[in-house]
Amino acid sequence: MTRTHPLRRAAITLLMALLSIAALVERADAASSRYDWPLAGNPTVSREFDPPDKPWLPGHRGVDLAVSPGATVLAAGDGVVAFAGEVAGKPVVSIDHPDGIRTTYEPVVASVSAGAPVTREQPIGVLQAAHPECAAAACLHWGARRGERYLDPLSLLRPRRVRLLPL
Ligand SMILES: [Zn+2]
Repeated sequence: MTRTHPLRRAAITLLMALLSIAALVERADAASSRYDWPLAGNPTVSREFDPPDKPWLPGHRGVDLAVSPGATVLAAGDGVVAFAGEVAGKPVVSIDHPDGIRTTYEPVVASVSAGAPVTREQPIGVLQAAHPECAAAACLHWGARRGERYLDPLSLLRPRRVRLLPL
């Protein structure tokens, strides 16, 4: 009767663990590279992500991208339109992606309806001028969250190609 040496068994277990971690990392990488800017070209970030320490405190739960009013807004990734309409008088579009992330776009008058499947870079609406504290002619506020946790939408882009508006 042959028995596997305990050390060898431990080595195999460790190898299996490493392989599964490698697979997970690869999957996470593939998921994040499925996103692109929600505007044509390489837009300028006019205000960065600045999440509040506590959910009820003010902060900036997304990034602002400087753009001209009337610009076409694109889906940052494949998904399904979760919402298209007004929130507190502001036109908003949000998209649920297969990796569990929801991206939001405002102020954007939707050209798509809730429930519609969208693909990355597909036009989803037209940008309006008004967004609070926008330093440009108009800003697209782009948000991302997983459940209740807000994420920096720029972290979805690989590689990070970020230009900041000079102060
Ligand atoms: Zn904003």
